[in-house]
Amino acid sequence: MDITILGPNLPDQSEGSYHVHAAGCANVKPSKYSAVIIRNAPVFAAASKAEAVEWAYEDFLPGGCAEGESEVPYTVADLIGDFKFFPCCTGTGGLTEIDPLAKILAVEEVELPSEVDLLKAQLVAATAKFQAAAQALAAALIEKGQ
Ligand SMILES: [Zn+2]
Repeated sequence: MDITILGPNLPDQSEGSYHVHAAGCANVKPSKYSAVIIRNAPVFAAASKAEAVEWAYEDFLPGGCAEGESEVPYTVADLIGDFKFFPCCTGTGGLTEIDPLAKILAVEEVELPSEVDLLKAQLVAATAKFQAAAQALAAALIEKGQ
């Protein structure tokens, strides 16, 4: 559906920095939002709430940083609380919810050990297992009087 995003710098930010409405919603009017905010509000097609968040916070999401900038591992789930989605864009046929697993998966992706770390851990575990086997063999041989 076509949506419009108003914000940031809304007069009332108690429910988030951004307000999301269906494009053409009658509640997007000067008595609620300043003329400047209405004029600058983009209208674009989105299928999910995540797409609205991605539009507004592209620079803060993985892959959104330019080369050399610090990567901040924000996820859509971290940022969605800064958006108020009005009923005009969330009813039947409206924006879909974000995947509740998205945050968990994103965190795991960030915290997964690298392939090198994984190989090191496997080597340490294999070495410990080898040493334990060698000690057990030595103890068994001593016990048999060899
Ligand atoms: Zn609306």
